[in-house]
Amino acid sequence: MPHIELEITPDTNIRELVAQLPVAAQVMEAFGLGCSGCGVSRSETVAQGALAHGLRVEPILAALTQARLSGFVPLISNEDRRPLRRAPGEFRGRAKIAHVVAIMSGKGGVGKSLVTALIALGLRRQHLRVGILDADITGPSIPKLFGLRTPLTIEADPNAKTPQGHPQPLMLPAVTRSAIEVVSSNLLTDKEDTAMIWRGPILTGVIRQFYEQVLWSDLDFLLIDLPPGTSDAPLTVLQSMSLDGVVLVTMPQALATMIVRKAANLVHQLKKPVLGVVENMSYFVAPDTGTTYEIFGPSYANRVAELAQAPLLARIPIDPAKALFADEGRVEEIDDPVCDELATQLLAAIAAHPKPKETISII
Ligand code: ADP
Repeated sequence: MPHIELEITPDTNIRELVAQLPVAAQVMEAFGLGCSGCGVSRSETVAQGALAHGLRVEPILAALTQARLSGFVPLISNEDRRPLRRAPGEFRGRAKIAHVVAIMSGKGGVGKSLVTALIALGLRRQHLRVGILDADITGPSIPKLFGLRTPLTIEADPNAKTPQGHPQPLMLPAVTRSAIEVVSSNLLTDKEDTAMIWRGPILTGVIRQFYEQVLWSDLDFLLIDLPPGTSDAPLTVLQSMSLDGVVLVTMPQALATMIVRKAANLVHQLKKPVLGVVENMSYFVAPDTGTTYEIFGPSYANRVAELAQAPLLARIPIDPAKALFADEGRVEEIDDPVCDELATQLLAAIAAHPKPKETISII
């Protein structure tokens, strides 16, 4: 029997609503808000959910109220479920992106992409609007972490032409269950395992396109998952975007530490702040005994942070549960305080380094 007492307002918590009125989950699903069951929406209200997904809240409230009375999901018009995204052509005005933060590592395999995803989750849980630009073009793993498979929609910009006179392509970002916008080279083809050969200048061109020729929504944060190392592509991004700064991801290995130091020097040479250091795979806590093991050796986190002249944002242990969620494309179900810790620390670091007003130069 539907629960008649329940008041449904823009401030109603989605989680609590679904717990009391299970059909509400189907209504949210019908609007493309399939996150009602996952950890991200723990404190999210209907209004915040609608805003994050770019939808108007009124039709959602109306549908929820109808479902409460009838027990069924009502018919929802296509118009009501279509996000209020910016129209092509508005693009030149550029989305308003308040903060751009690049996530960098000295070498591959230290968990840079997973850390990027955890930061994004933490920021979303503070109800901030977040996008991830997967600039790791040759090893893109962001879509896999979020279970995104559908190739990006590409439209022709009616107001812009390429130098050859062709319509300028515009990409619509993919949107995860918790409304994080994602653009990645892995979403340019429907074959996940297609190896793409990109050479330096093309790489930087693609990263530029991902920034400029995408209909990003207005965002509080755009996180850029940089390719590992200090090659051309990360350099170009660092030089040419209006970055707030860089987060360095490392792990407890002498080699990783040495390389991350090189990365920190590079960032400083380019006069961008290192906002913080994250030591991933720092240690392992045995679930049966609670004993802590330093699998890769002793932590260098404080030393690296000191060398990078930046705060240590977090030490993240080796956690098979996180690896499993990541592998299965369910990273948004990771419900770990480290996400909040990363987000809170990053916000504090950004507040300590106000971004100088600069014009965005083109790559
Ligand atoms: P990178 O982007 O630096 O190349 P990834 O984020 O792709 O690294 O991580 C490499 C692998 O390690 C992935 O399979 C990921 O799930 C796993 N991994 C990363 N961090 C952790 C962690 N803290 N605990 C367990 N597995 C992790």
